[in-house]
Amino acid sequence: MADDSTQSFKAVDLAVQLSPALKTKPHVVDFGTVFTDHMLTVEWSVTEGWQAPFIRPFTNLSLHPACSSLHYGIQLFEGFKVYRGDDSRLRLFRPMLNMSRMADSAKRACLPAFDQTELLECIRRLVEIDQDWVPQSDSASLYIRPTFISTEPSLGVKRPGRALLYVILCQAGSYFNSEADAISLWADPKYTRAWKGGTGDCKMGGNYGCSLFAQYEADDYGCQQVLWLYGQDHQITEAGTMNIFLHWINQDGEEELATPPLDGIILPGITRRSILELTRKWGEFKVTERYLTMSQLCCAIKQQRVKEMFGSGTACMICPIGHIVYLGENLHIPCRDKQSVTSRLTKELTDIQYGRTPSDWTFMV
Ligand code: PMP
Repeated sequence: MADDSTQSFKAVDLAVQLSPALKTKPHVVDFGTVFTDHMLTVEWSVTEGWQAPFIRPFTNLSLHPACSSLHYGIQLFEGFKVYRGDDSRLRLFRPMLNMSRMADSAKRACLPAFDQTELLECIRRLVEIDQDWVPQSDSASLYIRPTFISTEPSLGVKRPGRALLYVILCQAGSYFNSEADAISLWADPKYTRAWKGGTGDCKMGGNYGCSLFAQYEADDYGCQQVLWLYGQDHQITEAGTMNIFLHWINQDGEEELATPPLDGIILPGITRRSILELTRKWGEFKVTERYLTMSQLCCAIKQQRVKEMFGSGTACMICPIGHIVYLGENLHIPCRDKQSVTSRLTKELTDIQYGRTPSDWTFMV
C-alpha cells in the first residue's frame, strides 16, 4: 500500500476555537471520566483527503448509525502522557514512538496515512492550550488519547471512505490502587489475547473489548489482572495491558532480564523498549527478548531462581507482580527491595519524565 502521508494535514493550517466557558477541574482524579476543555479533530475523506486540523471546545461526536467503526471495529487509539516537572515545564516522553505505532495501527486498520510530525505538533498545541490541566505532582500527569475511527456511513465491510482522527485529554493519577503494592495475576490458557497473524501488536479497540470477560474472571479469583498465555506450551505474553518482564537466573545459570519478543502477538510498548534500552546500557546482566513459558517459570520459582517480575506500560510505568494464580496453584513471586531492577527502573524513568534527568527522550511542550 502506498504511503500517502505527503497528503497529510499540516499543523500550520490548524484552526483554533477556544471554549467560552472553562470547566472546574476535579479535586480527585477518577481516570478517564473528566476531559479537558478542548479537543483536536481532523477529518478525512477519500474524495477530499485530509481537512485542516481543528482545536475546538470538547464536545460529543455525531456519527451515522451505520458508521463502520461501530459495526466492525475499524478504529484504533494511542495513549501517552504529559508530565509537569518541578520546574513547572511540560514534557512528553518519546512521543514520536506513539506517533509511529499509531501509523502502524492505521495501516493495519486500512485507515489513511498521516504525517506523524504534523500530528505531534497539533497535539503539542492542544496540550499547550489546556496546560492548566497538567497536575503539579510527580505521581500524576495528563493523559493524551489520540483516536482514529472510520466514519464510513455504510454497512459494507470495506476500506473506509471517511475517517475522523481526534485527540482528547484527561488527568491521570496512579493507576493501580496502591502503586507500591505488587499486583496479582490470573493465568488460564482457555483465553487468548492475541494470535499470530492477528492484530495484537496494534492498539485497536477490539483487542481490549474482547479482553474484558477474562478480566472479570480474574476478579472472581481475587486477581487484579489477567496473565495472557499463548500456545500449547503456555507462553507468557502480557499482563493485562502491560508488557511483562522476568528478572531471574535462567536455565544456564545466567542473571537475565527477559521479555517476550515482538513476534506479532505482543504490543510494542514504549516503556518496554525504554527498559530494554536502559538495562542494556547498564550492562550488568543479560537482557533478552525471548520466549518464556509457564513451566520454565514454575521450575525457576521452585528452584528460587526468580528475582522479580513486573509489568510495564504508560499507565502504571513499572508494576511489580507478587502472585500468579495458575492451574489451581498460587505462585509466589519474590518482591522488590530498594536495590531491585523494578525500583531502579522506576526512578530512572520517572526522573526523565519529570525532567530531573536531562534526556533526548524528552520532548518539550
Ligand atoms: N501491552 C498492551 C496490550 C497495552 O495496551 C499497552 C499500553 N499501551 C502496553 C502493553 C504498554 O505499552 P506502552 O509502554 O507504550 O504504554
